[in-house]
Amino acid sequence: MLLFSPANNLFSLFNQTLMRRIFFCAIIFLTALQTSAQDLSYYLPDDVTYNPAIPKPKDIIYHEVGEWHVTHDRLVNYMKAIAAAAPDRVKLETMGFTYEDRPQLLLIITSPKNQLRLEEIRQQHLLLSDPSKSASVNIEHMPIVVWIGHSIHGNEPSGANAALLSAYYLAAAQGQQIDDLLDNVVILFDPSFNPDGLQRFSTWANQHKSKNLVTDPNSREFNEVWPGGRFNHYWFDLNRDWLPAVHVESQHRLEWFHKWKPNILTDHHEQGSNATFFFQPGVPARVNPLTPEKNRELTAKLAKFHAKALDKIGSLYFTKESYDDFYYGKGSTYPDINGAIGILFEQASSRGHAQETTNGILRFPATIKNQFVTALSTLEGAKNLRKEFLDWQRTFYITSMQQAATAPVQAYVFGDANDRNKTAQFVTMMLRHQIAVYQPKNDITVNGKTFKAADAFVVPMQQPQYKLLRTIFEKTLNYKDSIFYDITAWTMPLAFGMPYSELTSAQFNTNLLGDKITIANKLSGIVSGGKSNYGYLMEWSDLLAPAALYELQKNYIITKTATEKFEIPVGNSNSNFNAGTILIAVNNQPLDANKLFDLVSDIAKKYGLTIYALQTGNAVSGIDMGSRKMLALTKPSIAMITGAGVNATDAGEVWHLLDQRMNIPATHLEPAIFNRADLNRYNTLIMVGGTYTELNKEKLKAWVNNGGTLILLEEAVQWASQNGINAVTLKKIKSPVDSAKRVAYGEEEEIDGAQQMAGAIFGADADLTHPLAYGYNDRTVSFFKANRVFMEKSKNPFATPFYYKDNPLQSGWISKENSDAIKNAAAVIVNTSGSGRIINIDNNPNFRAFWLGGTKLMMNAIFFSKIIDAASGRTE
Ligand SMILES: [Zn+2]
Repeated sequence: MLLFSPANNLFSLFNQTLMRRIFFCAIIFLTALQTSAQDLSYYLPDDVTYNPAIPKPKDIIYHEVGEWHVTHDRLVNYMKAIAAAAPDRVKLETMGFTYEDRPQLLLIITSPKNQLRLEEIRQQHLLLSDPSKSASVNIEHMPIVVWIGHSIHGNEPSGANAALLSAYYLAAAQGQQIDDLLDNVVILFDPSFNPDGLQRFSTWANQHKSKNLVTDPNSREFNEVWPGGRFNHYWFDLNRDWLPAVHVESQHRLEWFHKWKPNILTDHHEQGSNATFFFQPGVPARVNPLTPEKNRELTAKLAKFHAKALDKIGSLYFTKESYDDFYYGKGSTYPDINGAIGILFEQASSRGHAQETTNGILRFPATIKNQFVTALSTLEGAKNLRKEFLDWQRTFYITSMQQAATAPVQAYVFGDANDRNKTAQFVTMMLRHQIAVYQPKNDITVNGKTFKAADAFVVPMQQPQYKLLRTIFEKTLNYKDSIFYDITAWTMPLAFGMPYSELTSAQFNTNLLGDKITIANKLSGIVSGGKSNYGYLMEWSDLLAPAALYELQKNYIITKTATEKFEIPVGNSNSNFNAGTILIAVNNQPLDANKLFDLVSDIAKKYGLTIYALQTGNAVSGIDMGSRKMLALTKPSIAMITGAGVNATDAGEVWHLLDQRMNIPATHLEPAIFNRADLNRYNTLIMVGGTYTELNKEKLKAWVNNGGTLILLEEAVQWASQNGINAVTLKKIKSPVDSAKRVAYGEEEEIDGAQQMAGAIFGADADLTHPLAYGYNDRTVSFFKANRVFMEKSKNPFATPFYYKDNPLQSGWISKENSDAIKNAAAVIVNTSGSGRIINIDNNPNFRAFWLGGTKLMMNAIFFSKIIDAASGRTE
């Protein structure tokens, strides 16, 4: 054992601190950057003693903090070990599991005294956000609740690695200071906001580490392959999902957020490697107007503690210059509309273990140290400002109720009788934010629109979540600034394509309210009329009708769709069915009538749909069931292009839609595989925004001409246009700068920023007779657009099923130049190419998986493209 070898495997046998220190000195003397490892003394405050019974990170994860990137598995092992060793301070909870079945841990850390009455503390704390009870709450000795959260972007690892240090410190530190802290603060400690992303990235960084650290930014270690570790399993940015809460990670986290309603929530990120360290407050003009001014004041007070802590260790930092608090779907902004303060930290990223930057060599341990120090400064600030933060939470909710009482809109009524699954998703989303949702007692008619009691819901504004309700329902058209870090509008009823109305104080009173909804009921699906020997009809308007159709097709059931509306007897009366309705005839199927009925029933139940049994094929009006306008459908076999150059989040949205919502498999094709694969096994190909330089264009064209359906989204339309693949003419956009006049260099950021399409909502006019519009009932369809691809309408008058009119902006911000370009532009164009179809969609119908109003368009493109010309009768 005394023999000493530089080999890493032997090196790991030496684990006595003294031996390690001697060893390190020797190595550093020989080669400055052979390792980035630091023992705990580099990070921890030196005036504190530690309980020797608490395991140090290395005892559990086998390496020093910062020596390797901690994998999520090892991070979990350490958190479990800490909780086991310090049960009087640390309580371990599992909030849920990620898509890849990794646990989402939450450590509740506070003093032993507080742990004994934790539930009582929680109950008392929750009263602060209940304006009917909060006035009498005594906050004199009440602990403050602080959520410390790390690395929601998996490839911003310094946060999650710092979690090892913070957890150790909070469990093991001894003395008056820590005792005071833990007496006054309940810490909700979330070591990893995005476990799947962290695991992916840590594996990447570790597998590329050299014994002699390579610091060249060009090295593979710093340049992850697509899609990278930033995202969750489905390539979504979880730091945009706090509001829509589409993903399991967000859903589990929100449950615990509202179970405790913290006063402060920190969000530890990383930024570009050449930056320093950022903490909020951010740019004043970019705060959402619904966030009260006091929020900034408290953020600024807390900032003093971060500045002091970073000064002490000599770290550079900046504030107020960048980032914003506008979109409530981000972790540092969501708390701001929940009576809390969200704090964004952005550390310059070493990405790998050590990287050359304009500030010299940035070592991984240095990035971890800043995150650790600011986690502690947050807790120190929270302890010192405890009463002010607690009081703010109480004030926030009392003020919200006061404002609600005099608000012009007193309630919203909403519901889509034709799409119960979508409506249920909308209700579920609101329940996750603890919004009180009611069924109406009776039908509600407002401004000529009737909402049937059985299919509608009402949300009154006079409730604690008044402000959150406003951000969910309101349209925004006025802005103080024209640069946005993220989207400018997210009006949820538009996103969901949800019929809704405002109710003013003259139109609303609490007598309209029926039962309060506590959980969105699972919809019961049925076959209305029972077993048929003739056939079944399924309406197309429900969100999950495409999932049901695919399941029928997967079972080799022959399906047709109606290309015109009709009225036919079902059950005891005649019913109207729209174009897009799916017909399942009983004859000529691979299953007999009994088995077919079983299958149809199972599918109706599984997807919460009503499927209708037919007794006759003879329509009362419109087309009969054997009509030539009932067209046979083909089962889609889908491939989507993925890989380097492709917009990963847009591709992830397609993957998530097909896999999670529709139960439809899709092949992920890398361009190189596309170029050599036999494409005959696919009849549908999806391309989202991206650069496709390596893709074999001739092969793509030949495949379309042979009968394939090519679905192009956003910038893929532009790429196809520039490469002669589709027949789309793009509109030219005027420059905001007059080249004859002098423009100040200092204005460049402002001018360029304003031309970005950060994302806004536009209403398009739909031709409801077109197969791509089947399932829509309203001629105005809201699309989300965050690109500068503007299409001229097709010369073929039947080939532009959706287009924007003179004034399409519904909510959000757009520059004058972009606004001119979108006027009368096409939103969707269909090209015929050989026997194939190209569907050009200028917007993102799948945006962040909450744009359910676009889902029908996407699924129509997948299921109905092949019938398009036949439907208009021109090529039959
Ligand atoms: Zn980030």
